[in-house]
Amino acid sequence: MTDHRKNKIMIVAYPNQGHINPSLRFAKSLVKMGVDVTFSTSVSVIRRIDMQTTHHSLTFAPFSDGHDDGQKSTTTFQQHYSDFATNGVYAVKEIISSAAATGQPFDDLVYTSAVPWAAKVAHAHNLKSTLLWCQPASVLDIYYYYFNGYEELISCNNNNPTFPINLPGLPSLTIADLPSFMWSSCPKEHKFIMDFMKDHVDVLKIFPRILVNTIDELEIDPIRAIEKVVMLPVGPLVPSELFEGSGPSNSPFSCDLFEKPIEDYIKWLNTKPKSSVVYVSFGSMATLSIEQVEEMASGLVESGRPFLWVIRDSGQVGKLSKIEELKKQGMIVSWCSQVEVLNHQAIGCFLMHGGWNSTMEALATGVPTVVYSQWSDQATNAKMIEDVWKTGVKVKRRKEDGMVEGKEIKRCVEMVMEDEEVRRNAKKWRELARKAISNGGSSAINLKAFLDDA
Ligand code: UDP
Repeated sequence: MTDHRKNKIMIVAYPNQGHINPSLRFAKSLVKMGVDVTFSTSVSVIRRIDMQTTHHSLTFAPFSDGHDDGQKSTTTFQQHYSDFATNGVYAVKEIISSAAATGQPFDDLVYTSAVPWAAKVAHAHNLKSTLLWCQPASVLDIYYYYFNGYEELISCNNNNPTFPINLPGLPSLTIADLPSFMWSSCPKEHKFIMDFMKDHVDVLKIFPRILVNTIDELEIDPIRAIEKVVMLPVGPLVPSELFEGSGPSNSPFSCDLFEKPIEDYIKWLNTKPKSSVVYVSFGSMATLSIEQVEEMASGLVESGRPFLWVIRDSGQVGKLSKIEELKKQGMIVSWCSQVEVLNHQAIGCFLMHGGWNSTMEALATGVPTVVYSQWSDQATNAKMIEDVWKTGVKVKRRKEDGMVEGKEIKRCVEMVMEDEEVRRNAKKWRELARKAISNGGSSAINLKAFLDDA
């Protein structure tokens, strides 16, 4: 018998790398606390989990979202979102009902961002549900305030990037710091995202207690900014091996949706001096134009520093004009085990897109960042990194076309590699992150509070 009241939890995760990573890591924390976890997402994801390594408290409940062989490049996000929801509603209903029918009902259903429908399914079955928000608390605040009083102010001024927006509990922002879906320049095909964010915000009226992949100390005011919502920071949701000192392991609690490269990049990193390498990665979704990739290449070459660069599109690598020079100075791979890389002593800085998992992983490993945000929450994350946590810098874009020139990449890389204050701040967060999830730390206390609240 365990001493807490929630003993059986279902997790429903959106099948993107950025949602699967934090939710599987969260599942691991629950299992360690003695909870039985049923993890549900699409068949295409579960197939990629290493089933040689199982855990008796973890059960997988895959369902078909209509894309069992993975998403084709022609499938739009909106189409996939809708297919996952339509198929997921039936599958999740079934899983909840059959657990109840066997006399072992779930105590809670935890769902990631982009799965707001799961809360409605749970509600219809008298099952509690809890959002696991996979972006910062600050970003949830922004969506909340947008739908509660600020929509007109924001939408009437969203073509002016410098227009100031002041929201309770948040630092002074401008339109450019808000999630990209609020900008007038947001592409039409992303507009539906505001609808599901509204669903998330509406659900908070029924289930106001949520879990957030953040650290209390990182977002003291934003976590408490909405009176009616209780945010429980349980982050950083990073692989537990990171703080246990053991190497990365294949486990049912990790899942790469991309093939591992043939290059032995760890062996290569082992040959580099401490804090000398620039790690470059833009996450699992963003793609840069070939012109932009060329600018980055010239910035990296100019910097003269070794680099490990993840370019998922092999077609782009083939087109790079400076490929021979690049190969001499660094290594290009199609994917890597990012936390293992960030935790390597050779890494000196991380040039990234500002995705929230990457941001938390950089904080948890004490690596300073250069942020070139692309979409979604990334501009807000970049603002916090530069102005609030001061663990990195944002790149400046060219006025005419928004491109970031090679010389700007070089300037920013040099700055974070050399700025003592930025490097000190980054190190500070590594310690705070470790403390938060260790015994008696803020995230450990919150996880227990979540489990104790029947
Ligand atoms: N990631 C990885 N290897 C790579 C690139 C990314 O393991 O080569 C992981 C990274 O550690 C993170 C996730 O993919 O956990 C990306 O999530 P993030 O929120 O940073 O960005 P997104 O992909 O959602 O834009």
